Amino acid sequence: MVSIPFRPALAGFEPYGAPQLDVPVTLNVNENPYPPSPAMIADIAEAVAEAATNLNRYPDRDFLALREDLARYVAGEAGVALRPEQIWAANGSNEVMLHLLLAFAGPGRSVMSFAPTYSMYSEYARDTNSTWHELPRRADFSLDLDAIPGDIAKIRPAVILLASPNNPTGTALREAELRTVLEAARGQGPEDAPGTDALVVVDEAYGEFRREGVPSAFELLSDYDNLAVSRTMSKAFGAAGLRLGYLGAARDVIDQLRIVRLPYHLSAITQAAARAALRHADSQLSQVAGLRRSRDSMVERLNSLGLATAPTDANFVMFGTFPDRHAIFAHLLRRGILIREVGPEGWLRVSVGTPEENDAFFSALEEGME
Ligand code: PMP
Repeated sequence: MVSIPFRPALAGFEPYGAPQLDVPVTLNVNENPYPPSPAMIADIAEAVAEAATNLNRYPDRDFLALREDLARYVAGEAGVALRPEQIWAANGSNEVMLHLLLAFAGPGRSVMSFAPTYSMYSEYARDTNSTWHELPRRADFSLDLDAIPGDIAKIRPAVILLASPNNPTGTALREAELRTVLEAARGQGPEDAPGTDALVVVDEAYGEFRREGVPSAFELLSDYDNLAVSRTMSKAFGAAGLRLGYLGAARDVIDQLRIVRLPYHLSAITQAAARAALRHADSQLSQVAGLRRSRDSMVERLNSLGLATAPTDANFVMFGTFPDRHAIFAHLLRRGILIREVGPEGWLRVSVGTPEENDAFFSALEEGME
């Protein structure tokens, strides 16, 4: 062991990450199964070539043009008009949420979420030296709205993290649920900042996959200045490799994030590629509509095998339960299909793939269940 001052808070942790295995069918990390269209690839290549002519210079630190484009996209997708100053972006929504905790949580402050949920949340809290509180969801994975106001008043969190649709369950929050949490957060900010509201972060990484009638939390931004809504280009845009996440919030929230970001955190290449991809929003969103249909038929097919599924508004389905889920996971892997062993005991999670990938998944699953 070398003699360097390891942080005790990091002792015993492994780096986060799903296995990256080279198998024919990867349905384990909720990616979009389709690569970008040839037209999008051509536009990205051209935009990146143009950006490269200026690479001796630092990029636009405030990425104003990208913020304008993201605001336009949100207006089109969620029907909510935001000013570019209300938009933030970083290298994936993971970095966006780390910025939020760096700015609003930290030593002596608490971050709260509801399990089962995205396992990176506790890591952002750990890395920012914040105190982590994970409260349980109900058996159907919904929020326990009777308990939450009391829990918030007791914990006095600086930040409440809510994934909607949630990972790994796929469940989305209804407007009434969001409003209950937002109201309960009023005046319940951290004890070192009496009278403030806790900041409620709604992580809509899978927002575009929500079913008809499910609102986006963007719609509530005009009513609540303690709300921040995070999105990503990793899923709906089929651009997980791009690393571009973004956020909509009150301008005061965004201004605080500008304090903690590293200078020039978004490279000129990233900004150019993201802007080029955003020009293809319409075709991406029609592809998303197809993935939603595939998701719904996967749910039906799983149910017809006698399996339970958690209600899903995402591009994945959590299904089960199995007395030995690892046996099913391992069987699928032997057939070249990688899914995820995640969620409460007995459940598994599968991402929506191409029709061929979904068929391969089902024939291996049926075989494994025999
Ligand atoms: N939030 C949730 C709920 C996720 O599942 C993921 C990725 N799996 C992310 C955020 C992070 O996505 P990215 O950093 O690629 O934007």
